[in-house]
Amino acid sequence: MKRYVDMREISDGRLYGLNDMVKADCRDCEGCSACCRGMGNSIVLDPYDMYRLSAGLGILPEVLLAEKLELTVVEGLILPNLRMQERGEEKEVCGFLDENGRCSIHPYRPGICRIFPLGRYYENGSFRYFLQTQECRNQNRGKVKVWKWIDTPDSKRYDAYISDWHFYLQELQEYLRKEASADSHGLSREKEINLAFLERFFLRPYQEGDFYEQFYQRRREGKLG
Ligand code: SF4
Ligand code: SF4
Repeated sequence: MKRYVDMREISDGRLYGLNDMVKADCRDCEGCSACCRGMGNSIVLDPYDMYRLSAGLGILPEVLLAEKLELTVVEGLILPNLRMQERGEEKEVCGFLDENGRCSIHPYRPGICRIFPLGRYYENGSFRYFLQTQECRNQNRGKVKVWKWIDTPDSKRYDAYISDWHFYLQELQEYLRKEASADSHGLSREKEINLAFLERFFLRPYQEGDFYEQFYQRRREGKLG
């Protein structure tokens, strides 16, 4: 989820690249599952998350959406996020957290879960990682290389895709804003674009093979809606 905050208040003031060491290693979380609870709609998925989840679990995106995810509006654009569920006394627990407080989909968990307690800071058409100093309860974290921590194959290609996705969303959000203010039918147009966007990037299953090729092919498909 995008946030507009003063970096000095939430980070150690540094920005990190894939080869930098960062104090993010929470040592297998050691019995803590705090960041899998009470997260509201903040764990938003990107298309690679959907691909990884759907392929890893063998479940179609539309079924995942019905059972474990939900949709949220981010600056006019509809995006899927992990749905927090009520469990016993607790109001918000990730539907993938098991009874022992462990992630039941660890190999396929979304990018936001992988990088935590790192965040992404975007500027000038790219991004760097930053350490969220107040988010992780384990204050005795170890140092780890960023590429190792994010635990995703071909991390350079992945980062390039994440950056492209972020700025593509920004363009679409800007387009939607203009449509809404210029057109008296702005809302129906917004809905049309959002439905096409969801279908193209999240609901249409990705095939086995290279995800990135499929993603960029879909992005080239032309106008949405
Ligand atoms: S708060 Fe830190 S230690 Fe606790 S589950 Fe999250 S990452 Fe792990
Ligand atoms: S997907 Fe896994 S790591 Fe992410 S919030 Fe849910 S249980 Fe936690």
